[in-house]
Amino acid sequence: MSTALAEKNAHQLALENFDLAADALQLEGDIREMIKYPERILTVTLPVRMDNGRIRRFEGFRVQHNTSRGPAKGGIRYHPNVTLEEVKALATWMTWKCAVVNIPFGGGKGGVTCNPKDMSQGELERMTRRYASAILPLIGPAQDIPAPDVYTNAQIMAWIMDTYSMTKGFPVSGVVTGKPISLGGSLGRNEATGRGVFYTTQSACERLHIPIKGARVVVQGFGNAGSVAAHLLDSAQALVVAVSDSRDCIYNKNGLDVPKLMMHKDSTGAVAGFPGAETISPAELLALECEILIPAALENAITMDNAGRVRAKIIAEAANGPLTPEADTILEDKGSFIIPDILCNAGGVTVSYFEWVQDEQHLFWDAHDVYARLERVMTTSFIDVVKIRDERKVSMRTAANMLGISRVAETTRLRGLFP
Ligand code: NAD
Repeated sequence: MSTALAEKNAHQLALENFDLAADALQLEGDIREMIKYPERILTVTLPVRMDNGRIRRFEGFRVQHNTSRGPAKGGIRYHPNVTLEEVKALATWMTWKCAVVNIPFGGGKGGVTCNPKDMSQGELERMTRRYASAILPLIGPAQDIPAPDVYTNAQIMAWIMDTYSMTKGFPVSGVVTGKPISLGGSLGRNEATGRGVFYTTQSACERLHIPIKGARVVVQGFGNAGSVAAHLLDSAQALVVAVSDSRDCIYNKNGLDVPKLMMHKDSTGAVAGFPGAETISPAELLALECEILIPAALENAITMDNAGRVRAKIIAEAANGPLTPEADTILEDKGSFIIPDILCNAGGVTVSYFEWVQDEQHLFWDAHDVYARLERVMTTSFIDVVKIRDERKVSMRTAANMLGISRVAETTRLRGLFP
């Protein structure tokens, strides 16, 4: 996934999107100068003792794009194709995403260029602890709060929390989110992104007068975000007709039994071989006639080559950047209703914020509380974005960027320029 982004020069794309929204906002030049580029960039070299006794060097990054609204917030990615340009782009998108859902965080992102699939647990732990100590001057509950991203997880967050806490001399759970529950993680964090996708999709259906009951749903990428969104839509009586993973696409025009499919995926590790479903090609999956298409796998999944065949009325971007700019234009022109990633998948960072609040207060909420607050944030944000879209006659993506950027611009104006 990172390769595709890198080919597109992810940071360049982020800057172009910024300019588009900033032009629509008629944002003054001085503010543009202040908020367009990352505030801080740290590149670190990580020597790690491998299991064979030799030392191997890895390169890592932490970027804080903007902290005018609060501490930087954003995940840490472990992937062979991680580059500084990609991390800068992801940090930029985090700034606008946090501002769209109006949580008091800025944007950050981190990454280590490595292939965790080829590393033992011991190697991963040593690399993670070395990375955590290398970025220690930047992170902290009031400064910059990492979280999991591609190929990082709750265990890795636990190692970062421990490394930070050992250095301070006392436990600091609020330094990362996406932790195990027993270390101060939040109930509902695991399914937060998929749940947020569900809430925004529900709002889109209401707006387009599409009944959820019986609406046909196609999910590309039946992983964490995709499967939770599918499950909630299924519970609301939508018809999940097709899903895919990195190997196969399965289809049943009468609807797949989603709870059983989740169990099948858990036990076999794949969607393939699910009873009662036929196998189709990835191209056929994207071209299925449906009310809701959820790209929940990779960046640049829908391009100018396949966008013309997409027939979905609503496209809910669970993944980050699943549409190329060309695909975006084609689908907008066709009249598809796109729920852009920085709105659609913001449920994850929103519950990360809830986790941080609970850690700081040492007071934990039940799952019902988390879900109710998340629903409020997602539906309010959806309404805010649609309002800008309607008033300014722009795309949903530009409207979301305009909302995020205008909020960051406002705090920047109020705080003024130091010194
Ligand atoms: P995941 O690894 O749990 O799931 C990804 C799924 O996509 C897997 O089932 C994988 O097999 C499948 N997949 C990979 N390549 C595919 C392909 N070519 N075609 C079809 N399926 C393919 O990851 P996730 O956490 O669900 O994240 C998915 C997307 O959502 C990513 O773009 C991620 O950045 C974004 N996202 C996730 C979160 C979160 O909290 N999990 C938050 C914000 C954004």
